Amino acid sequence: MKCPYCSSENDRVLDSRPAQDGTAIRRRRECIACGNRWTTYEYIERTPLMVIKRDGRREPYDRQKLLNGILLACRKRPVSRNRIEELVNKVEAKLSEDSQTEVSSKELGELVLERLLEIDPVAYVRFASVYRQFNSPEQFVEELKHLKKGGESEEDREKGEEN
Ligand SMILES: [Zn+2]
Repeated sequence: MKCPYCSSENDRVLDSRPAQDGTAIRRRRECIACGNRWTTYEYIERTPLMVIKRDGRREPYDRQKLLNGILLACRKRPVSRNRIEELVNKVEAKLSEDSQTEVSSKELGELVLERLLEIDPVAYVRFASVYRQFNSPEQFVEELKHLKKGGESEEDREKGEEN
């Protein structure tokens, strides 16, 4: 690394240790030419995930915003905050596993929906109504029908709730 004092490119590392709770490496360096010392930090490079919105604009992925949307869908439903956090963790893990740097808001919504369906059908429909932006009540009803076909009967659900 170029010396900040004399611009020589010959330096040596005197000391290397974890810093900032192990998220960085701190290095003490010394210039062989002039003997001056300085410190560098090494961090993991993170490319921020960008969300492509419906209108084509991009904005950085915002965990809190996604979380708020799901919390709203789960209002007064028997879903703990922990389960919601877990769901978001799984969605984030999926995105980082695919090394995606961009995701459309639609795709992000579908990733949430897939997982939300297993947790709570009512929250699923609420979230879907926002994310898919139903244009008509008919579309909303279609989604409900689709849900009932794939899901358990009303009777089963009532039994489940008693347990
Ligand atoms: Zn130097």
